[in-house]
Amino acid sequence: MPPANRHQPRRAKSSTSDYSVTEFLREFPDDAACLEHLWRTRYAPDGEHAHCPRCDCERVFKRYATAQQRQSWTCTGCGHHVHPTAGTIFHRSSTSLRLWFHAMYLMTSTRCGISAKQLERELGVHYKTAWRMFNKIRNELMGEPELSLPLAGEVEIDETSWGGRPRRKHKTRSEAMQFRERKPTILGMVERGGRVRLRVIASRRGEPLSREVRAHLDPAALMLTDDWIAYKPLRREFNHAVINHSAGVYVEGNVHTNTIEGFFGNLKTGMRGTYKQVSKKWLQSYLDEYAWRYNQRFRGHRSMFHLLLDEAAR
Ligand SMILES: [Zn+2]
Repeated sequence: MPPANRHQPRRAKSSTSDYSVTEFLREFPDDAACLEHLWRTRYAPDGEHAHCPRCDCERVFKRYATAQQRQSWTCTGCGHHVHPTAGTIFHRSSTSLRLWFHAMYLMTSTRCGISAKQLERELGVHYKTAWRMFNKIRNELMGEPELSLPLAGEVEIDETSWGGRPRRKHKTRSEAMQFRERKPTILGMVERGGRVRLRVIASRRGEPLSREVRAHLDPAALMLTDDWIAYKPLRREFNHAVINHSAGVYVEGNVHTNTIEGFFGNLKTGMRGTYKQVSKKWLQSYLDEYAWRYNQRFRGHRSMFHLLLDEAAR
């Protein structure tokens, strides 16, 4: 066996890691490399030629060394400056680009995400800074794309409450129900083998529930739910298969809601482990982040990080 190369550590074949922190730092060693990346992806694929809006044609751009190190390239025809960060979440930020990229690296590095507190420790920044970066990345880069296609095929739908389950003091069914109704409700819709959508809904009954199902489900989809009464009116609009949980039946051939229930289980364990408590105000954006990660689960870490980076550079 050849001696191990300490500069090229090897992974086990079974390893799911494809983008170690060393590889990330090699790709983006400093601020200049991050800026260069944005410049090339957004304006100048070859690093030199870009469209000048003032000359209204392609020109050669140069980066002049100035005392204040402007983050811009200059048109050699007319002197117009192009800032590669303009219109991105990084623009006018007092935090360095490398820290932003590193935060995005960390936020794509685990299945359950990372908390702002953890980000603060890893990046060595103030908690407020970490929290701001965390929110920007989550809210602006990890949301559901507006034009994404509705969920199709076999779609399991279920709802769950966020923030504790009924305790012993909620003796009767109706007391337990009242307890649940006071908690935010999450509606989960998942394509078998595909994508998930999660929505915080105002009530697990009537319009608030139907509206979200209609907004996210393809009219030809097969809706699979338990026998909760609020799904009944939707039968007129969608194919509907029901599993009768009230009667203690959980699987009947192809009819079950195990995918979405398993998803909810992982979601709750993951969110509690990473974020401890999530207030109602932030719940939807945490769910979007969780769904984003789930929907990209077949990608490797490197591809996930670059997807986020492309979104930032759009
Ligand atoms: Zn010009």
